[in-house]
Amino acid sequence: MKTAKIELHLHLDGSLNLKWAYYKALQREVIPEKETFEEFYDRVFAINGSHSALSITKFDLMCDLLQYREDLFDATYDLARRLYEMGIVYAEIRFASQHHCKKGLSQYDAVKAVVDGAKKAMEDYPIKIGIINCLMHKGDSAAFNYKENLETITASEELYKHGLVGLDLAGFENNCEYSEYAPLFKIAKEKGFRYTLHAGEMGSGAHILDALAMEPERIGHGINCIQDDRYIEALLERDMPLEVCVTSNIKTTMNYASHPVRKMLERGLKVTLNTDNMVFSKSNLINEHYQLKMLGVSDDTLMKCTYNALDAAFCDEDTKEYLRKII
Ligand SMILES: [Zn+2]
Repeated sequence: MKTAKIELHLHLDGSLNLKWAYYKALQREVIPEKETFEEFYDRVFAINGSHSALSITKFDLMCDLLQYREDLFDATYDLARRLYEMGIVYAEIRFASQHHCKKGLSQYDAVKAVVDGAKKAMEDYPIKIGIINCLMHKGDSAAFNYKENLETITASEELYKHGLVGLDLAGFENNCEYSEYAPLFKIAKEKGFRYTLHAGEMGSGAHILDALAMEPERIGHGINCIQDDRYIEALLERDMPLEVCVTSNIKTTMNYASHPVRKMLERGLKVTLNTDNMVFSKSNLINEHYQLKMLGVSDDTLMKCTYNALDAAFCDEDTKEYLRKII
């Protein structure tokens, strides 16, 4: 049975149409002019580990070809269209505006381009889209890109609740003390932003406690909560929604059967199912649901995950009411 689905955790730069990305990379001279599509494909998938030092190169490559307003607009529009065609009724697409300012765009320009691309897609297709702007966890201290992260917050203010629905902390959670990012999210909280935080994905489950102290409304991944009951209890206590991205995780150290998602569901955690990166994970939300079904997760439980996502979505109440009717 085809059911309407909700995607809360999807990175724009990791979910481009690869053929489009190839022609764009040629046009924008990001790759050599003689590079074939096959060579480009190999470049994108050269390293399978999704969190090695080299994997950031894949994201850098995709971000490098998204440095112009029209390209950000087109990429977002196209992603929204493909999501609609898959039966997704609401999606939150995230990106980091600070990675799209190499050719003269301001962070605000980048956010505006993505928000406008999503708006146009919503005019043309019956899908609802919210945009999330990511602060980046990189460098060996939060000071490394503090200025850019602060700018991400301020550049998001004008479009917040006008296409932009929230903020995130993405990147390499092990690079420095997680809690170094707390002051930035204190500012975000004071400005009224809703936000989610990547935590307990590639790093220790203890980061989940650091993240919870920063008062997010959701946690990105959070799968390493299974390292310690204290982490699970802390999440249960807050009924904290978790954006679980199974295929994205199994690229590294586990397979579908050994992924903690089933344990998390058994413990009663508020799991939502998501894709993370359609290109790098070679997956989409239909596949994420399918893989869990193959592991014996019931239709009722999968539906519960969709309702969890609806509850946890950053969209306004009118949109939620509309979604409740069509799911
Ligand atoms: Zn992510």
